Amino acid sequence: MNKIEHIGIAVHSLKNANILFEKLFGASHYKIEAIESEGVNTSFFMIGDTKIELLEATTENSPIAKFIAKKGEGVHHIAFDVDDINAEIERLKSEGFRVLNETPKKGADNKLIAFLHPKSTNGVLIELCQEIKLPSSDK
Ligand code: ZN
Repeated sequence: MNKIEHIGIAVHSLKNANILFEKLFGASHYKIEAIESEGVNTSFFMIGDTKIELLEATTENSPIAKFIAKKGEGVHHIAFDVDDINAEIERLKSEGFRVLNETPKKGADNKLIAFLHPKSTNGVLIELCQEIKLPSSDK
């Protein structure tokens, strides 16, 4: 793994959270992106080399809605940048980690992503992400 790519924070209201985090960071979010397949709206802030991703549920079945119902707002996941997500998935499986997405899926911010089950990582939801390099090569 190369570095922390971003930290995901679950929020009730993206609109309110954007205002709060803009005050906190002294910087504006640089994008808002809806991921319909995940039932989330996201916004991104760049803090040095690391991004902060705010996540708001758009449906009751969204993983973010379930997370907030159980635990309330707060840190939801930590995402690590990897060069080859498929190789990393195989490596982690062979080390005994539970991978939730054996086939990486398309996430926000032009990434291929896969999550590890928090039960196998001391309760921390870990996201692997690999930049999709070729423009419009897939969808
Ligand atoms: Zn994320």
